[in-house]
Parts: sequence; C-alpha cells; structure tokens
Amino acid sequence: MNTQLTVPMKVAIDMPRQVDDEVAGDIEKESVFVSPAIDRIVVSEDGKSATVVLKDRRNLDAVMDKAARFLDVMAKQVSGYEIKVFFETKRKDEGPYQRDVNSGLVERGWLHDYGKGQVAYNGPVLKLARLINEKAAELYKREYDATDGHFPALVDSETLHKCGYFDSHPNAVTFIGNMVEDFDAIEEFRAANSCSEGAHMPPQDHVHMDGMCLNPAACFPAYPTLKGKRYQTGECFTWMGRVFRYESRNISGLDRLFEFNVRELVFVGTDDYVKDVRNRALPLVEELASFFDIDCKLQTATDPFFATVSAAKKFWQAAQEVKNEIKIPVLDADGKTTNIACGSINLHGNFFGERFDIEDTEGNAAMTGCVGLGIERWVLAVFTQHGYDPDRWPEAVREKIFD
Ligand code: AMP
Ligand code: ZN
Repeated sequence: MNTQLTVPMKVAIDMPRQVDDEVAGDIEKESVFVSPAIDRIVVSEDGKSATVVLKDRRNLDAVMDKAARFLDVMAKQVSGYEIKVFFETKRKDEGPYQRDVNSGLVERGWLHDYGKGQVAYNGPVLKLARLINEKAAELYKREYDATDGHFPALVDSETLHKCGYFDSHPNAVTFIGNMVEDFDAIEEFRAANSCSEGAHMPPQDHVHMDGMCLNPAACFPAYPTLKGKRYQTGECFTWMGRVFRYESRNISGLDRLFEFNVRELVFVGTDDYVKDVRNRALPLVEELASFFDIDCKLQTATDPFFATVSAAKKFWQAAQEVKNEIKIPVLDADGKTTNIACGSINLHGNFFGERFDIEDTEGNAAMTGCVGLGIERWVLAVFTQHGYDPDRWPEAVREKIFD
C-alpha cells in the first residue's frame, strides 16, 4: 500500500492577513471548491494561518498556489457588519434542546438520508414539513391575498444568467446532462449497464449539456412569467419550490441538503408596494415562530457569495440592508449550539424588473422582493427545540403531528 497517497497530507500556509471567526468559517466552507486535490482548508484559531488538507500530493506546487490565491481573495472579505435584530421570539417550552436530531429522526424511521444531500421522510417529519408549508401559505394568503402557483424544478441557463446566478454562485450550479442523440453511443451505454453489477456512466463526450439546470433559488422561475406586466401597485405570488444547490462535501443532514424545499413568496410592483409587503412580512415570520413556539431571531445578513465576488457583494448587501435572515438555534451532534438560517427576506431593487421587462405604469422597472423559508431546516429546528415528547409541543401543532 502506498501510504503517501492514502494518508491525508497537511501543509501549513500563512494567511495573507489575519481573519476573524466569521471569515474563517466562510473559508472553511468554501474550501471544498478549491481543488480536486484538496480535501479542505482549516483556519487556525488565531486566524493567522491555515492548514491545507490534501487528498492527492501530485502537482503540489500548483495546488498550493491555487490555495494561496483562494485565501488571498477570501481574506479580503470584510466582516463584523453591524447586525440589526428586528425581533426575537422566546419559546414557552422549558424542556432542553434535543441534540443530534438528524440521527434521532433516522432512528425513529421518520427520515431516510440517502447520504448525498437528499432525504426522504414520512410520519411526524412529513406532517411537520407540510404544516410549516401550509401555515406560511395561509399567512401569505391572509395578509396579501397572494396568488398560488407552481413552477418547474428545471431552469434554463439563460434565465439563470439573467438572474446573475453564474456571477454570484458559480460553484453551486447543477447542469443537466443527456445522452447525445446517437444510436451507437446510446447502445454502448445500454450494453455497458445490461447485467453489470454497478452503474456505468457514459463517457463525457457522449453526454451533452444544453443549458438546462436544476433550479438553485426558489424565486427565479417566476420572473420570466412576469415579462410585459405593468403594475399600478403590485402583486404577490406564493408556492412551494424545489431547490437544488451543489454543496459538495458540505452536505449534512437536514441542514445542508443538495435538494430541499422552500415556501416562497415573491412580491413585485412599485417601490412603495414592495417596501410595504416587506415590512409586513416581519410580523408574519414572528407569528409563524410563535405558532411553533420556537426561539428565533430576525436579523440583517449577507449571502455567502463565491470567493472572488464575495467581498464587494457582501459589502453592498450589508450597506443596503437588503437581506434579512431568520436565525433559529439548533444543537449539532456534539451538543454545540449553532444558529441556522431558516429563511430569508430579500429586497432586489429593480434588478429583476429591468432584466425581465416588468414595469410600473409610469414606465419604471418594477421593484421585487422575496421571502424564502427552508422547510427542512424549520423541521430540524422545531424538533430540536421540542424533542420527541408530544406533551412538550404546542397543542395546535401536536394534534396535527402526532396522532
Ligand atoms: P437563500 O435564498 O440562500 O436565502 O435560501 C433560502 C433558504 O433556503 C435559507 O434561508 C435556508 O433556510 C434554505 N437553505 C439554503 N441552502 C440550504 C441547504 N443546502 N439545505 C437546506 N436548506 C437550505
Ligand atoms: Zn427568492
């Protein structure tokens, strides 16, 4: 056995400048996208150096050069933006938080983790997921008379490009590949899999990508459908979107999936209309958190943009206060508390209005905004905060989840 290649090799590297915990966390998360030869990069506690954990020691100089360039752009990020908290809810349940809910739900047979960022669920997990989705839909109907809709899970690359996704999150895109329309290539693929023990993928030159992608943000497929609309005030749409983000080796349980569900609200119209809908969304989130009796905070936030665009866009988001996040505390497998983002409230200015020809009746590009609630993360949070004993759950929820 060649231990040199199987034992992970660690190489220390100086940070171009000292980073704080927040930037260190982003570096560690994004480090799975640096090189196929790198397993991950771990930042030292003082933020002054890092350890590059290698899977493969070939071309070491080139790989380390890439790691250094990645660290260089990531360390330019400014963090420590002033965080504004809009509200905080406190639960009435006095029982302890339940740790490692992901494993607990699997043990109870309510959750199946395929191990690749996809999950199946049933029983109380399914009932809770449905209730979160339905309760949010009900609030949007009541408050805004939002129109129900359905949108596809595939999105074409022209739409994603217009939405700016390739520029902001190029690492997270999933392209659809199809067999070339070629009798011999299709037959070769069939024959290779006929009676074979495992699946055989076709060679890359037998697969074509025509630009269809799995949709990575719930609201994107809505904008092309609004082309040509002219608003005197505005309109709200709501639906359950299936969302896909390639998270590479960062996938974990219900909190970081490749495929997940989002209850989406999109609002479009004049500046006044969009601001008003956004402002009225804050107490709705509070109402949702109180209904499930959970500790929760709504605060300003920034998106985890990919390395090279991160610094500038984060600064813009923080300065304009265009993104707010619903943060809910959960416990990980070691019992450590982390605040996970269970939803976001976003203002997009006239970005989508301009790109998709949506206007107000005065001829200005329409303003848009959205609220996205990550259903599986809410499920994780509610089970963490109430555990498995139905008596601890709020009555209105208990009777719908456990029977
Ligand atoms: P965003 O559009 O990035 O604000 O995402 C909307 C919501 O989707 C987030 O607030 C999360 O609740 C949820 N979400 C994002 N990424 C994931 C993921 N990889 N796995 C599960 N939920 C996610
Ligand atoms: Zn959205």
